[in-house]
Amino acid sequence: MVTTHNLGFPRIGARRELKFAQEAFWKGQISEEELQITGAGLRRTHWHSHRNLDRVPVGDFSFYDQVLDMSFTLGNLPERVSKSEGSALERYFRVARGRSGHDPSCCSVQAGEMTKWFDTNYHYIVPEFHRNTRFRLNADRLIEQISEARAQGLSPKPVIIGPVTYLWLGKAKDDSDPLTLLESLLPVYSELLDLFSNHGIDWVQVDEPALVTDLDADWRHAFSLAYYHLKTSSPKLLVTTYFGELRENLQLACELPVAGLHLDTVSSPQEAARVVDWLSPHKHLSLGVINGRNIWRTDLGKILDWLEPVHEKLGDRLWLAPSCSLLHVPVDLDIEHKLDPEIRSWLAFALQKLDELDILATALNQGRSAVRQELAESAAATKSREMSDRVRNPSIEARIQAIRPDLGDRQSPYSERITVQQQKLALPPYPTTTIGSFPQTQDIRQARLQFRKGELTEAAYTQRIREEVRRCIDEQEALGLDVLVHGEAERNDMVEYFGEQLEGYAFSQFGWVQSYGSRCVKPPILFGAISRPRAMTVEWIRYAQSLTDKPVKGMLTGPVTILNWSFVRDDQPRMDTCLQLALAIREEVLDLEAAGVGIIQIDEAALREGLPLRKSDWAGYLDWAIEAFRIAANGVGDGTQIHTHMCYSEFNDIIKAIARMDADVITIETSRSDMELLNAFRGFQYPNDIGPGVYDIHSPNIPAKGQMKALMTKAAEQIPAERLWVNPDCGLKTRQWEEVIPALKNMVAAARELREGI
Ligand code: GLN
Ligand code: ZN
Repeated sequence: MVTTHNLGFPRIGARRELKFAQEAFWKGQISEEELQITGAGLRRTHWHSHRNLDRVPVGDFSFYDQVLDMSFTLGNLPERVSKSEGSALERYFRVARGRSGHDPSCCSVQAGEMTKWFDTNYHYIVPEFHRNTRFRLNADRLIEQISEARAQGLSPKPVIIGPVTYLWLGKAKDDSDPLTLLESLLPVYSELLDLFSNHGIDWVQVDEPALVTDLDADWRHAFSLAYYHLKTSSPKLLVTTYFGELRENLQLACELPVAGLHLDTVSSPQEAARVVDWLSPHKHLSLGVINGRNIWRTDLGKILDWLEPVHEKLGDRLWLAPSCSLLHVPVDLDIEHKLDPEIRSWLAFALQKLDELDILATALNQGRSAVRQELAESAAATKSREMSDRVRNPSIEARIQAIRPDLGDRQSPYSERITVQQQKLALPPYPTTTIGSFPQTQDIRQARLQFRKGELTEAAYTQRIREEVRRCIDEQEALGLDVLVHGEAERNDMVEYFGEQLEGYAFSQFGWVQSYGSRCVKPPILFGAISRPRAMTVEWIRYAQSLTDKPVKGMLTGPVTILNWSFVRDDQPRMDTCLQLALAIREEVLDLEAAGVGIIQIDEAALREGLPLRKSDWAGYLDWAIEAFRIAANGVGDGTQIHTHMCYSEFNDIIKAIARMDADVITIETSRSDMELLNAFRGFQYPNDIGPGVYDIHSPNIPAKGQMKALMTKAAEQIPAERLWVNPDCGLKTRQWEEVIPALKNMVAAARELREGI
């Protein structure tokens, strides 16, 4: 008999119940007890949907983040919080979110740093270490939840982050090496395992996804060391890896002295096949055969063709699961009533993935005939998706085939075209601009909601947005900015807005995925061949331009960012999908140019995010990603100025690729790094214009003129002044007008003083 289990489940709730409860608690609208009741209710509901599985995950539920939970379990709280007052949950949220006090010496607490969880769009709270960090077990949460699951008649399998990955995820706040803490950390893990054993737990899931990353000899050694130390016969350990191939760590993972290993067979099918052949006969092998990160239905027949002989070979040692925690997919497809039925039949969200798992196990345990109907449905869905001409469109595929190597080249090199552009635009030195969006007021959101509900006609909605564009242009003129924007009031989101206008995209109503804390995103679903039936932004920019003599930038999202923030089809390489997006954006760029728009900005906020986990795979990704950007942007004439924007501050390791994009102007985030990052641009002698953000839009603080001037002066030490622009770090949509006006006023004043100094 195969054993079925799941690595983790989305905790946010099918209707984002947890988000609303968290936010109500933070606002003081509900009590801690009420929040706890919501949490317990969600756990109960989620476990109930696991009732057909042999083991249910326990400990994956979190009020904020599973890594922060692990820090609490290990007693590793930043000192600034462990001493502060309040309940355990209050202290927990204080690490997650910080606290601002009016008197900084008294009550303000800095939030823990947040960073991306491997190559997903989930963000975790980075554990903080010092050379003398000591750990102390606090397993109450886990033990309570084990009892909760048992009370539902289920068999609990606690989920914890393994010791090596835990250290790997963290950051030393002094210059010590987190690995030196392993020795003091392991006894706490042993204590935890003993405790599990005392509570009758037979298997524990120990997540070690660091095994799919580039590890040096010390880290690899730490794995052997750790698991020799934790070697126990009770409970049994299932070490789980996911998100990629193990490669040079494969043997290490297979040889760890543990009772079982989980592999993500979606991202490493060949390795899984090898491990089936080699794994020691005492070990259990859990195969993650259902994609835990994407929303497509599984081709169950195809998986069974592969699994049946594996099952024959491994017998009871075979376990089945999704590839990784289902945290990264929405909860329930059944509540989506507005999706196109054909597309819907191709999808599976978390609950449907659990059903798929159950069907696979039944087919293996009892023979395919026991689930004939279900397998036939799966086969029909696979076939319908394969055959659909909305998915495969020969004319669009032919356009990709026909791409010539010079399609992404500009007509002339930057040094020549910049002269043409300067003549046309006649901008002063240190030109000022913004990144695109202006405050999305409550009023605008309200209007959009009413329009969606049919309470506002399209004409009335358009009129409302036009008023907002006018306000935005008027304010920018009054401020004296040099290059204006229309303000993006018509956009709900920088990816969804374009997805909604492209063929090949579908949208869920409730397909929310946790990004961090209570924040969720609803990635659009890129299911098919991408094309652009009509211009998407031209009318808005044309209208904005009609209101002013200053240049207004056209504003687009780039192909790589659209790709990285969508659920993407899995039936062709990401590169091909990205190139289809690039051709669609290229058409938009050319339409904007034809409409007389002289400056076009193409945002690539998520270009860096898409970097593969392994350094050796970076070049491959960057090759096609940069090519896609170039194709989208570079079809314009010399006189049209292309801008791009990236909101991050690490460029050192990708600067060559960034230069290949050949944007005339790049605006980046720098204000928080004190212009340090310009070192990368200087070191590489980055040739084109740069706008290093001088106004940190993530903070409500209003930057002073002197402060911004000082930052720009520092920038001018690294980059010739004639190539510098003055702008904020990122878009202003999350800010209030009352903050934005004085901040930009100071920014424009700073630029004027800089000009005088030339
Ligand atoms: N143009 C977008 C804006 O200003 C860019 C947002 C982003 O980079 N995340 O909002
Ligand atoms: Zn940005």
